[in-house]
Amino acid sequence: MNAAPPRAETSPPQPFPQGGEGVREPAAPNSALTSSICGGGREGDAPRIGIAGAGLAGRLLAWRLLRAGYAVELFDAHARADRSSAGPTAAAMLSPTAELAAADAGIHALGVASLSIWPQWLAELHAQTGHDIYFRREGTLVVAHAADRGALEHYTALLRAHLPAGDGGASMQTLGGEQISALEPLLAGRFGQGLFLPQEGQLANDQLYAALAAALDAGLAACGGAWHEGVAIDAVAPAALLDAHGRRHGFDLAVDCRGIGARGGVPGLHGVRGEVLTVFAPGVSLRRPVRLIHPRYAIYVAPRPGGQFVVGATELDSEDAGPPTLRSTLELGSALYSLHPEFGEARVLRLAAALRPALPDHHPVAGPDASGVWRINGLFRHGYLIAPALVRQVEQGIAAALGAPGPQTELRHAA
Ligand SMILES: Cc1cc2nc3c(=O)[nH]c(=O)nc-3n(C[C@H](O)[C@H](O)[C@H](O)COP(=O)(O)OP(=O)(O)OC[C@H]3O[C@@H](n4cnc5c(N)ncnc54)[C@H](O)[C@@H]3O)c2cc1C
Repeated sequence: MNAAPPRAETSPPQPFPQGGEGVREPAAPNSALTSSICGGGREGDAPRIGIAGAGLAGRLLAWRLLRAGYAVELFDAHARADRSSAGPTAAAMLSPTAELAAADAGIHALGVASLSIWPQWLAELHAQTGHDIYFRREGTLVVAHAADRGALEHYTALLRAHLPAGDGGASMQTLGGEQISALEPLLAGRFGQGLFLPQEGQLANDQLYAALAAALDAGLAACGGAWHEGVAIDAVAPAALLDAHGRRHGFDLAVDCRGIGARGGVPGLHGVRGEVLTVFAPGVSLRRPVRLIHPRYAIYVAPRPGGQFVVGATELDSEDAGPPTLRSTLELGSALYSLHPEFGEARVLRLAAALRPALPDHHPVAGPDASGVWRINGLFRHGYLIAPALVRQVEQGIAAALGAPGPQTELRHAA
């Protein structure tokens, strides 16, 4: 416990400082990264795609489209370092089985598909930028205190009822105390009952966002594109974006990835509040996310590199985007302390709240709507779990609509 704690995160959301035009030139990329994308003189010939929203869906889609050889422009209401939206606030657990408590077989299937895409995409990002992105697939442990046995049994029955036919129990195993101790020695002797969800994983979303930003800077510069930070988009048409200053930006195709920012343009889109606490506890070791089942204060604890843990609760039925309340903070902290008293010495680095973009049926949309506007939205509480499959679907749809721009040239990190 002698490592110095990182500085606490106190900064509020960061709107990009508005200049005359409110549009910032993209940061100068490392020329070693930009050497060859859009090679072969494709710049100018490639179909032009405008993307509104540089969050999880927007960044991933922009990166994939650039790699495929399209010319891309990305617009976001905030600066790239802003952490007020859902993507940078999330715990980024990849939990197809645990999500079955709140989602159906369709989300599960998208999650399973995405879990096989993530390792490939993270390897490509690493090769392109040199950034390491923490990714683990060592399952999720679910535990409950003895007094909450009933709540654990209810949760187990809920998952079992929704597991896909033919699963044969492969994605869920019931555990006793010794098996829990073997998986997570920190919890030895503390829990006599639990569940193991072996197919689940997690990633560090701050590292993912940074790597995507580096890859985008390189690709956008090479393809004549741009990342317009601090430019809010008020309306999205099939081939144009209208910004908050009334300017129209025309493209061959536009995609709306504004998350909850698309409210008003997407019927039924609403926010579902989530709150997270990030702590630094270098003396505590967990290999995998742990979910603590409790009738009122159910929490999850996702380990991160550098002795950090992201702690969150299930969603709150509220569209309030304000800072976390004292009650939530106490509940999160108490539940964490009840998982293991060593968390009592943890340093609090960040308390944050954000709205998850949800549609009434809790299903995502990915593709053109009835008016011909392309969207990725409604990722709700499983954006990291399902985004790769949805982004791939949209990329294929765009190729079918506009034609693929031709073979891309590899972008590699020169280090
Ligand atoms: C507390 C919490 C925990 C979560 N945990 C998990 C988890 O463990 N696993 C998981 O899979 N998912 C999790 N999620 C869900 C996940 O974060 C979301 O599903 C995902 O971020 C949605 O991605 P998105 O790109 O649609 O929206 P966002 O990530 O919200 O991005 C939207 C972007 O659009 C920009 N924008 C908004 N309005 C405008 C505008 N008018 N013009 C231009 N740009 C605009 C925003 O600045 C932002 O950059 C969690 C979410 C929360 C809040």
